[in-house]
Amino acid sequence: MAKRTVRDLPDLKGTRVFVRADFNVPLEDGRITDDTRIRATLPTLDYLVKAGARLAVASHLGRPKKGPEPALSLKPVAAQLQDLLGGSVAMAPDCVGPEVRKMAEDLRDGDVLILENVRFHKEEEENDPRFAARLVADTMATVFVNDAFGTAHRAHASTEGVSHHVQRSVAGFLMEKELRYLGMARDAPDHPYVAVLGGAKVSDKIEVIEHLLPKVDALLVGGGMAYTFLRAEGLVTGKSLVEEDKVELARRLLEKAGPKLRLPMDHVVAAAFKEDAERRTLPVDQIPNDWMGLDIGPTTISAYADQVRPAKLVFWNGPMGVFEMKPFAEGTLAMARALAESGGTSIVGGGDSVAAVTRMGLADKIDHVSTGGGASLEFLGGAELPGVACLEDA
Ligand code: ADP
Ligand code: MG
Repeated sequence: MAKRTVRDLPDLKGTRVFVRADFNVPLEDGRITDDTRIRATLPTLDYLVKAGARLAVASHLGRPKKGPEPALSLKPVAAQLQDLLGGSVAMAPDCVGPEVRKMAEDLRDGDVLILENVRFHKEEEENDPRFAARLVADTMATVFVNDAFGTAHRAHASTEGVSHHVQRSVAGFLMEKELRYLGMARDAPDHPYVAVLGGAKVSDKIEVIEHLLPKVDALLVGGGMAYTFLRAEGLVTGKSLVEEDKVELARRLLEKAGPKLRLPMDHVVAAAFKEDAERRTLPVDQIPNDWMGLDIGPTTISAYADQVRPAKLVFWNGPMGVFEMKPFAEGTLAMARALAESGGTSIVGGGDSVAAVTRMGLADKIDHVSTGGGASLEFLGGAELPGVACLEDA
């Protein structure tokens, strides 16, 4: 279901807007090491600023344990936004309270107030209705704009609760883009539609596999999770990553999927889980005792790439091997290249897969690189995300 967006808000001049962004950026000694998430929400902030709205922008950062932690302050984000956005960007000492109220009162058209880390209050994750009401009252907001797709799978005060205390709730541009592309992958794909799934465990991706199986023309499996399937086919897997309690489920999925679900034909096996371990490339039905499979092999790479390149739609989640170690990164690199070269729509979702594509410098050749991580997987598994459900339908 498509959602209304900031474009559907008339006359924003002077309107007080509560924006939920995802500024959960990596920090080292108070410095932002990757500002991708800040940049991703700039189109929304820029639009609202130019329209003359008065913004209070909320986010979480990290996992504060008990109350405020100076190392998890959003101050560095406010400074970065001041540079990127221009105009007036102020930093509040908290996300609720009299000082926030005072700073909100002082906002002029086009001004931005960054609220302090919402998770400094335990009521945020509890989705405490009184806390949500205070977030809205102290910022004097009448409109909620949710641009934080990455936390939309959580019903928290700033992602869902606030929607009950404002007049209107709509999506920002990043949220809109995530829903459009991931919606394509989930509901209305062009064909041929190929999904590539890898990563560590089958158990993390069961819903996604079940949901995508009826929609795709081919589901290509790689990474650690392939071994639970290979075991289900009766193969010896050595010390490869197998989830014993999921072998039966894998057998059922294989039966249901038929030839649609494809497994690696060859793999790169190693004597230990180490970058410099002794290694060999072998057919999947061969593995020395006590060795482990850490990447897909060249035959599999070329077979998978041959299906990906001509596809009209490709969705990829989960690395094909232990890409963090160079000798086992070939499969992941080759998949990233195949997606980048494919003429159809290419979508990558999932924390490590996105990190892999970014590190390989191929992110700008992919149509949509989801900022969603866990949220994108829940969405693709068919779950309704609370931070999306609370927004107005288009
Ligand atoms: P994502 O975050 O993209 O959803 P996952 O978290 O499911 O992906 O999996 C990523 C991890 O899977 C990586 O750390 C990678 O090293 C690991 N992995 C991939 N292939 C294997 C394998 N054959 N054996 C063990 N771990 C693997
Ligand atoms: Mg991961």
